[in-house]
Amino acid sequence: MIGRNSKFLRIIGMKCPKCQKGAFFEGHPYELTKIGLVKESCSHCGLKYDLEPGFFQGSYYVSYGLAVGLFVALWILKTLFLPNLNYLTTLISMVIALVVLAPLLFAYSKVIWIHLFVNYDSGAQK
Ligand SMILES: [Zn+2]
Repeated sequence: MIGRNSKFLRIIGMKCPKCQKGAFFEGHPYELTKIGLVKESCSHCGLKYDLEPGFFQGSYYVSYGLAVGLFVALWILKTLFLPNLNYLTTLISMVIALVVLAPLLFAYSKVIWIHLFVNYDSGAQK
C-alpha cells in the first residue's frame, strides 16, 4: 500500500526529498529552457540539492534503467495488444516514445537519484 508520505509519491511529486514541500526543479520538465535544471537548494528546508560536485552524474544510471523499463513496458503492451506489428514499426514507435518522454525520464532520474541519498525528515524546516 502506498501511504501519504511514501517515497514513491514524493518522487512522483518532484519535491524536496527531505521536507517534501520545496520544489526540486527550476521549471516543468517540458519547459525547454530549464530542462533538467535543479534548484540550488530547497526554499522550505534549505537542503542543498547538489550534495557534492558532480552528484547528479550518477542519475545517468537511473535514466538508463528508466529507459530500459520503458522499452520493456512498450514491448509487453505491443505483444499483448498489437502482436502482428512488424519490428520496424515497433522500433520507430519506441524511439518516438523515448524522444517524447526523454525530459520526463531525465527529470525523474535526478529525483530518484537524490531520494536514494536523502531521507524524509518530518521536522525539516529552515
Ligand atoms: Zn526541503
